[in-house]
Amino acid sequence: MMHGDTLIRISLNALGQNMDMLRQLMGPEVAVMAVIKANGYGHGATEIAPTLLQHGACYLAVARLEEALPLRKAYPDAPLFVLGHTPDRLLECAALNRITLTVFSVHQATLLNAIGEKNGIRPTVHLKAETGFNRLGTDDLEEMKSILRLPHLYVEGIYSHLALKDRPSDELQLNRFLSIVDALENEGHFFRHKHIADSISCVDYPDFRLNMVRPGALLYGMKGFESDALSPIPALSMETRITRLRRLAPGEGVGYDLSWQAQRPSVIATLPFGYGDGYPRTLGGSGYVTIRGIKCPLVGVMCMDQCVADVTEVPGVQVGDLAIIYGDGTRNTLSIQEAASLAGTNKNELLCRLSERPFRLYEE
Ligand SMILES: *Cc1c(COP(=O)(O)O)cnc(C)c1O
Repeated sequence: MMHGDTLIRISLNALGQNMDMLRQLMGPEVAVMAVIKANGYGHGATEIAPTLLQHGACYLAVARLEEALPLRKAYPDAPLFVLGHTPDRLLECAALNRITLTVFSVHQATLLNAIGEKNGIRPTVHLKAETGFNRLGTDDLEEMKSILRLPHLYVEGIYSHLALKDRPSDELQLNRFLSIVDALENEGHFFRHKHIADSISCVDYPDFRLNMVRPGALLYGMKGFESDALSPIPALSMETRITRLRRLAPGEGVGYDLSWQAQRPSVIATLPFGYGDGYPRTLGGSGYVTIRGIKCPLVGVMCMDQCVADVTEVPGVQVGDLAIIYGDGTRNTLSIQEAASLAGTNKNELLCRLSERPFRLYEE
């Protein structure tokens, strides 16, 4: 496959190892729903799905049905889950494609039940319980009980999501969740999957694992949790090569508005990446790339497709030299974590804003 100089390397090996380490830590009783929404946090959902399944993911989860359908097309037998709300008009499409949905209203459960009856199938859903996040879910036990009575619907699981404010408030949510589960199980319903823990809570709170966890960030090597029980490996790096070098005399400017001016005799390098690749525009003044092991500050305004780095300090710098845009933080490279804090955002946003344009190279 042809590609230019700007590319994202994805280590399938790192993804597999992260899954293995996670499963080891969770133990055999805890299933893993691997979250690959937003194009697998920028890593490419379709491309990484087989690795995650081979390493024991029992579900692949996305946020919306339109993310699940291409996965269904590529992987006719993969267990697929939609974490978000599915509009009424798409419920039949989801059910016919055997995609497990999140349901939290009698209204949608009834529609799905009718779809099941009409097509001779049993649409599969997980109930979403409201425990305090106040985004999706229901805490109406009577409604949940009537959903469980629908004959053409398979309520395979029940779940909720944590606000992660602090341990006491997370425990309050867990306890609300468990009391909802108990109340429904006491009516004789069996939930195959019960889950409330994301990447952070599944590591830091062992008693929140129940029988399924829903990690995203962790699988990609992002460490948001505090425990040292797991050291996930970053799966993504991004790089480019120097397009042009130019010497500047003091006082010469660079880019739009000439917003940066050389203070000393300088060498600047033009690099073919910009905010059109999903790199934060605000890092124009504060980010850096790593060339020959040296941090080179980005100078001037970050453009859509290109930017400029000050490479005055790089001995022997040449056109075509490799520039690491995102690395793992070692050898003077900018980690996703550090880039996120420089850009005033979080790791997940930096990853999922990576656009389609940079070529993704998948490596074992
Ligand atoms: C995105 C998401 C997750 C995964 O979150 P991470 O912090 O990346 O582990 C889990 N559950 C739900 C409902 C989500 O939307």
